[in-house]
Amino acid sequence: MRIMALRAFLHIACLLAPCLSMAAETAIAPSPPGWSQPANVGVAESAATRYHDSGAYLADLGAVDREAGDWLAAQAASVPKPALVLDIDETSLSNWDEEKANNYGYIRQGGCDSLPEGPCGFEAWEHLARAPALGPTLALFNRAKALGIAVFFITGRHDRVTEATRRNLIGAGYAGWSGLVMEPAGRSFASAADFKAPARAAIEARGYTILATVGDQRSDLTGGHAMRGFLLPNPFYFIP
Ligand SMILES: [Mg+2]
Repeated sequence: MRIMALRAFLHIACLLAPCLSMAAETAIAPSPPGWSQPANVGVAESAATRYHDSGAYLADLGAVDREAGDWLAAQAASVPKPALVLDIDETSLSNWDEEKANNYGYIRQGGCDSLPEGPCGFEAWEHLARAPALGPTLALFNRAKALGIAVFFITGRHDRVTEATRRNLIGAGYAGWSGLVMEPAGRSFASAADFKAPARAAIEARGYTILATVGDQRSDLTGGHAMRGFLLPNPFYFIP
């Protein structure tokens, strides 16, 4: 009789309050106490997609580019042969179509002929030469040119895709730049900075003053040979 009364009480309680909350209160605690899940890549993927699709990504990128442009405008007349260095991927051009198709995975080899579906091999994607400009960086590029500043691209893309990259930059609206420095195929660097900083030094050796280097990775900015560095947002991938 008591058991039946208890069951009846629980039934009524479930009608009055969500049983789910009761279940949550009695959830089994993880063991050992205090343990918690490490960062979850699935959660990070969703957050990165929301950041891109909400417009926050482009807004944040634009804020950095505008600050870089203001710096160029303030300094251009005060140095000999002023120059701006731009990275390419996720700085000047957007690889979003490839990143989305691969669910943020990096696939170097293989074709890229099923877009918007993946997989999409990155070298095949580079050869397609269809990455669009990131608008705020294209505006920075044009502002620099209007100020009489020479613009150089320094990229970790391998030199076997030089022609496709040149075609992609021009097709995306980047016209009138002064140099394109590609990473030599077959060479490897512990950090992209080990390649990019000496490349900036080589530009300086030609008499230019690099007012700014702009990129989406810290390795675009480290190693000196630029008066200032401007770091753009990129939660989609990391290059040491
Ligand atoms: Mg980049």
